[in-house]
Amino acid sequence: MSDIFEVVVVGAGMFGSAAAKHLSRSGADVLVIGPAEPRGGDPVSQYAFGAYFDEARITRRLGWDAVWGTTDARSLERFRDIESESGVRFFHECGSLVLMAKSIGHKTVAILRQCQADGIVVERLREEELRAEFPGLGVPPFPGGAEGLLEREQAGYLNPRRLVQAQLALTVAAGGRVLRAAVTGIRKEEGSGLWRLRVAGDGGDRQIRAEKVLIATGALTNHNNVLPAGCELALYAFTEPNLLFEVGDHQLDRLRHLPALVTVDPEDTGDDNMSLYMLPPIRYPDGRWYMRIGPGMQPLVEELRTVEEMVSWYARQEITSRQQAFLTSMMQMLVPELKPESVRPACCIIEKTPSRYPYIGRVEDGLTVAVGGNGHGARGSDEIGRLASTVVLGEAWDCPVPQEVFAPITADAAIRREGGRPEFLKPPFGLC
Ligand SMILES: Cc1cc2nc3c(=O)[nH]c(=O)nc-3n(C[C@H](O)[C@H](O)[C@H](O)COP(=O)(O)OP(=O)(O)OC[C@H]3O[C@@H](n4cnc5c(N)ncnc54)[C@H](O)[C@@H]3O)c2cc1C
Repeated sequence: MSDIFEVVVVGAGMFGSAAAKHLSRSGADVLVIGPAEPRGGDPVSQYAFGAYFDEARITRRLGWDAVWGTTDARSLERFRDIESESGVRFFHECGSLVLMAKSIGHKTVAILRQCQADGIVVERLREEELRAEFPGLGVPPFPGGAEGLLEREQAGYLNPRRLVQAQLALTVAAGGRVLRAAVTGIRKEEGSGLWRLRVAGDGGDRQIRAEKVLIATGALTNHNNVLPAGCELALYAFTEPNLLFEVGDHQLDRLRHLPALVTVDPEDTGDDNMSLYMLPPIRYPDGRWYMRIGPGMQPLVEELRTVEEMVSWYARQEITSRQQAFLTSMMQMLVPELKPESVRPACCIIEKTPSRYPYIGRVEDGLTVAVGGNGHGARGSDEIGRLASTVVLGEAWDCPVPQEVFAPITADAAIRREGGRPEFLKPPFGLC
């Protein structure tokens, strides 16, 4: 392998693998560098965390935000093509249901209007219709009642491991290469103007040089030695506690047809908040079926400020008793009849940006970033990767959302602008 590449993509996760595919298809000489998912028992380092190490991420086109709506819809339209080109199946159209509190009917109306304009078919269901359609589902006791927004088609969940696998296969098919290693340092060479990357892998350390670099290293980007000295992004990490409820064979038939679910509680503060996400029964690599639940806007989502806190939260895979109690009671509310065979925690990390959108842009000449999934980057990842590839190659921006919306914000600039950490970065925040 030559040690000079036109483009090196650092991070073989959801954004990096998508960008690498689009870059390779544009004819660029591409190397994507990223460690494989750790196996059980492997040591956990700050390079080894990937937010895609799971079997399901909710995907839908309906949204309450035009920017996310655009990246999500553009990606989703390509899912079936990615499947057929790669031969990897990852998209499960089980439908998506959003349970809204009736007291925020004006928001529901605005969402429906936007869906109509975008050609997204959504059914608005009353509580009794919800109970008839999904007999196993409990409806949250929102003040004033609840109503459902159901997308039956082109919505459900994707398997993020498999989507990454598909994108990397398509990268290789288009001439790109994948190196299973971690980048542990970066600097620009004086004279040549090339970026020099220090790379640690099974064969020891080596140096790789690149004309252009794309950093797509997810939640820990400020802490894993991939940004040049003095560059820190306004990117803040939070715990994402989940519980996995094992569904026994006797309950599977009745529950497996549930849709992917998000609930929206307008009382978006306090521990009693009922904003959540929940996945239907999904078969995990151990061969068992699990339903997964996670929190929306509760204060029990906590900020992780240091790399030690992040690595330890992820390595331990233990949620707090407060998180456990809350998520258990919420699962009992949403699926009252569920009698789990077992319950286990899953600890993940999400990252937030002050813009609330991913950063897709240059931070230095020849150095572009694509980071900041804000807890919902999976479903839009193919479009986010494509947009990043156009920035790397200096091509025209071809997206209805203005490029400035995705401009990276450095930590310094955020502090100058907000006088500290923006208030919204503390829980509660928006929904996935
Ligand atoms: C519990 C949970 C639930 C979620 N639910 C949803 C959902 O329902 N719908 C949705 O759309 N999104 C969801 N998301 C968000 C989504 O998974 C993320 O936004 C998405 O994975 C971000 O992609 P990324 O490429 O930025 O980061 P990642 O997918 O984390 O990939 C980053 C990669 O960079 C690699 N890396 C790091 N440092 C280095 C280095 N120095 N050198 C080389 N490689 C490096 C890592 O190993 C990793 O593979 C959820 C996230 C979590 C945690």
